Amino acid sequence: MDIETLFLDDYFAMRQHFITLASANGFSLNAVECPAKGPNNKPVFMDFAFAGNKDAKSLLVIISGTHGPEGYCGSAVQSGLLKSGKAKEWAKDHKILFVHAHNPFGFAWDVRFNEHNVDLNRNYLEDFENLPQNPLYEEIKDWAVPSDLSEDGLNYSIKNLMNYARINGFQKLQTALTAGQYSHPNGVYYGGDVPSWSHLTLKKNIIKYADGVDNIIFIDVHTGLGDYGKCELITSLPPKSLGFEKLYNIWGDEVKSSNNGESISAKLNGCLDIAMIKYLGESRTSFIAAEFGTIDPISVFRATQAATWLLNNDGLNTGLGETVRAQNRAAFYPNDLEWFNSVWQKAEEIISKAVDNL
Ligand SMILES: [Zn+2]
Repeated sequence: MDIETLFLDDYFAMRQHFITLASANGFSLNAVECPAKGPNNKPVFMDFAFAGNKDAKSLLVIISGTHGPEGYCGSAVQSGLLKSGKAKEWAKDHKILFVHAHNPFGFAWDVRFNEHNVDLNRNYLEDFENLPQNPLYEEIKDWAVPSDLSEDGLNYSIKNLMNYARINGFQKLQTALTAGQYSHPNGVYYGGDVPSWSHLTLKKNIIKYADGVDNIIFIDVHTGLGDYGKCELITSLPPKSLGFEKLYNIWGDEVKSSNNGESISAKLNGCLDIAMIKYLGESRTSFIAAEFGTIDPISVFRATQAATWLLNNDGLNTGLGETVRAQNRAAFYPNDLEWFNSVWQKAEEIISKAVDNL
């Protein structure tokens, strides 16, 4: 397969490619339109593509675009599984569901968060009455988002954050910034104060597709953390828990828990994996985030905070917006054939292991 043909330039091209391949492989499609629009006022969608043996008790779910531009990678993986014929083959014995563009607004606009600046992977809280506290975020909130995108504004922010890391350690800075916060709607990694449209749409549909199934394995494809082109499999479940053991039985010690500092990810609030386990039942649900490394973490963070600034300042549809969007694509989606190849090979390996355990 020509890997390059999977990795396209924008959300609309990737979606079209995915839908064409899904229909050609006999998948049924369900497009749910997002209330927010993409560039040029074009509608954007969370798409569900489903196929499988109707008597199968096993379901594989592959999710792309939980974090906007990370969707390029996830969408390419989904299309690759269709184009290679693997998805169709697996659907003979199992049920297969692709969720394309969990955060379609962010994917279409190349920003990690949704139209309300909400990070979906912090928005899957069980209880929105008692929002989690992140006291560390309070310590760095004045530097988390720059006051403007000038060189001076950005340098002031990064200089202070780096200084905080020098005093407190990088891990504490990572927790402060990325664990998820619910007190500053204009800040970074904001988890929201209500379940987002994406949260409600995914929940409603996944319950439907999982009806009658007794073994479900999710793979949620992410990018932006870790070594270039390498993959880490991340769970929020603590090691030694029953759920962790199930993941370990599939992927061995590639599975890392963000619960105990073992993972490249900080311990997070409002994660998708915990919610899916809750919604669908612990005994039948396994969920892993496959995180593919891109460029260095400071450049990734600079892109993220610039995107947040744009959202806060209505700047997406401007010349500056174009520059920041390109910066975000480069941070979450390196335009490099070697990276594409490495990602595709690893994704295929991880997902095949999941299918072997369905
Ligand atoms: Zn992500």
